[in-house]
Parts: sequence; structure tokens; C-alpha cells
Amino acid sequence: MIEAYTLFSGSSGNCIYVRNGATEILIDAGKSATAIERSLTALGSSIKNIDAIFLTHEHSDHFVGLEIISKKYHIPVHMTERSYRRAVYQGSFVAQCASFHDTHYKQSVGTLTLSSFPIPHDSAQNVGYVIENEDDERFGVATDIGYVTEEIFDNLSVCDRIILESNHDKYMLIGGHYPELLKQRILSEGGHLSNDDCAKLACSLAKRGVKTITLAHLSKENNTPELAYDATRKALDAEGFDDVCLGVASPCETVKCK
Ligand SMILES: [Zn+2]
Ligand SMILES: [Zn+2]
Repeated sequence: MIEAYTLFSGSSGNCIYVRNGATEILIDAGKSATAIERSLTALGSSIKNIDAIFLTHEHSDHFVGLEIISKKYHIPVHMTERSYRRAVYQGSFVAQCASFHDTHYKQSVGTLTLSSFPIPHDSAQNVGYVIENEDDERFGVATDIGYVTEEIFDNLSVCDRIILESNHDKYMLIGGHYPELLKQRILSEGGHLSNDDCAKLACSLAKRGVKTITLAHLSKENNTPELAYDATRKALDAEGFDDVCLGVASPCETVKCK
């Protein structure tokens, strides 16, 4: 069975741990090796057990620990070529044990196969993943979503369980203290998904059979776990999907995706 945990989630760092039997992977490494190791140890694992790291995009909250972790522990890294080029251009990455891919790629690691799909965002490239095991269980990951595309929907709709961005409450963001330019960036098609848009997508996905959703990448300044949870819970309940299980990821505490 695919087990997934958000170790860290949000603008202060992102890292998802997925295991299926003896196969263990990370999606993103947006924290230090020490922080990630501490979280993995608490789950009875270790960075040394990680078979591969898959990157979504080259923003520092997903990327900051990647180079040191991959070098120190010789862990294969999979990322898109565009993210790699941007990271090199910014002087923030030296490739070691890394494979560079097109936007759409498929990669097997042990008993897991990951398929990537593009997500609009203001990075050189951003991708989500559908993670599949030998029993045809499918787990989806999609964060840093500027806007919802048909392709995002199609990929997530084949999954049983997903991690989905619920970044901000629009009213908190608009009325908050962020500079105008930053507000516009977050609200733009290269920004992040609001609670309301997440709730809408969650309902459409529930119609297609998605059973468990972990809300992730919540803004610390422009959201609360309660607001994010309530927005999607109410929308699901109103459409009769009260059987869909909903969880909320934490910035710095491990959360098990049910
Ligand atoms: Zn980003
Ligand atoms: Zn991010």
C-alpha cells in the first residue's frame, strides 16, 4: 500500500515522503538535510533509505535542501530540464546523480512508477505527479497551482488519494499586509490556488471517485488550517460527498495522508 506523509508544507519548505513496501521516495526537498532526517527518523526511516527524489519545480521552498542531500547521500534526483536550467542559471544547483526530463515523463523506482504533468506557475516549469504501485493504487500530488487546467484535472481524477494545494483565503490575501505586487503574483495565473478554487476542484474530483484529499501548501499569512478545511469540507458536503476524507498538511509537523 502507498503510504504518504507531508513532512513540511508551505512557503517555508515542502517535502513529501512516500513509501510502498521497501521503496521510499521524496517529492521535493525544500528543507535542510537535518530537518528532513529528523522527520524521517520519527517515521522509522532515514534519508539513507530514500531511493530517489522527484522535484516539482525550482523554487527554493521545494529545492533548498536538494543539492546537499543528493550529493551527501548519492540519491538519484529526477527533475525537468527547464527547472534544472533555471536552477543552474541562478547558480543554485550543481547536478549530481540527477536526470533531466521533459514536462511529461514516466519514471519507475522500485515498486513505484511516477508520471509527471505540467502545472501553471511562475517557475521555469512546475509539475505534479501521479504515483502508482503494483496494485494499481494511484496517489496524486499537485501544488503551486496558478490555475486549474484540464490536464491537472485529468491526472488527479484517476487517483484514489491526492495532496492538493489550498494556498490562501482570497479575502485575507486582498485585505492583508502583503505588497500589492506580491498579492497580484499570488492571485495571477502563475501564482497559487485559493481555498475556493481548491474546493471547486475537490468537488469535481470527488465526482470522479477521489476519496481522500490532503490540503497542502497553506499560506501562513493569508490562510488558516480551519479556513482551508471549512471551504473544501462545506463544498464537498453540499454536493453529497461527506464520505470524502479531508486532511490538512502542516508547515513543520508530519501529517499522514489517510
Ligand atoms: Zn513555487
Ligand atoms: Zn511552493
